Amino acid sequence: MERKQRVLIVEDEKNIVDILRFNLHKEGYDTLEAFDGITGLRLALEESPDLILLDLMLPGMNGFEVCRLLRDKGRNTPVLIITAREEEKDKILGLDLGADDYITKPFSIRELMARVKANIRRVAMERRPDQEAEVLDLGRLIIRREEALVTKDGERLDLTQREFELLTYLASHAGRVFSRQELMERVWNYAGYVGDVRAVDVAVRRLREKLEDDPAQPKYIITRRGAGYYFQKEF
Ligand code: CA
Repeated sequence: MERKQRVLIVEDEKNIVDILRFNLHKEGYDTLEAFDGITGLRLALEESPDLILLDLMLPGMNGFEVCRLLRDKGRNTPVLIITAREEEKDKILGLDLGADDYITKPFSIRELMARVKANIRRVAMERRPDQEAEVLDLGRLIIRREEALVTKDGERLDLTQREFELLTYLASHAGRVFSRQELMERVWNYAGYVGDVRAVDVAVRRLREKLEDDPAQPKYIITRRGAGYYFQKEF
């Protein structure tokens, strides 16, 4: 079953959060909520939502900072900024925060939902060609799909087919956390798999031994405790 898409709401006005949550759930999205900027940034990084609705005036850390830090970390999650005033638009555009879109309060729910859908769809479409790119250039690591070849510092890594597929899958979705269950379904192609998922841990361990400078301190394939694994790009 396809995972529900998740929208992170970062907004300190509780009544607005309630309205957003209600309508997003009605449209079939899951939601995550943060009432201040620091929590918002943390959830954005840890949970890899499909879209972020971001208020600007927030306690702790404002929305400008949240967006800038998110982009500094290399995350391309679509960000839809909720501005309190029309004039803030100019500031947003001028700062070049890397926000994808903005909407001014008070907004109509219909318009907001249209924006949410459009931004999630746009990113999904942009990602596709990248995932199918012949060559994934990841700095020291280069993956050539056509030849099923991975090199690190120019040296060929001796990977099994499964290890190659696992690495390619994670690397082409860099930053996104996948549960063991999801990896069983997407890399092992065990649709609706509900059995033992330790095969994923074993494959990750072997892959790290071949891939990492120090397999005990992995820099590429990172464990998110209680959640799964993700690929970390070098910056
Ligand atoms: Ca606010």
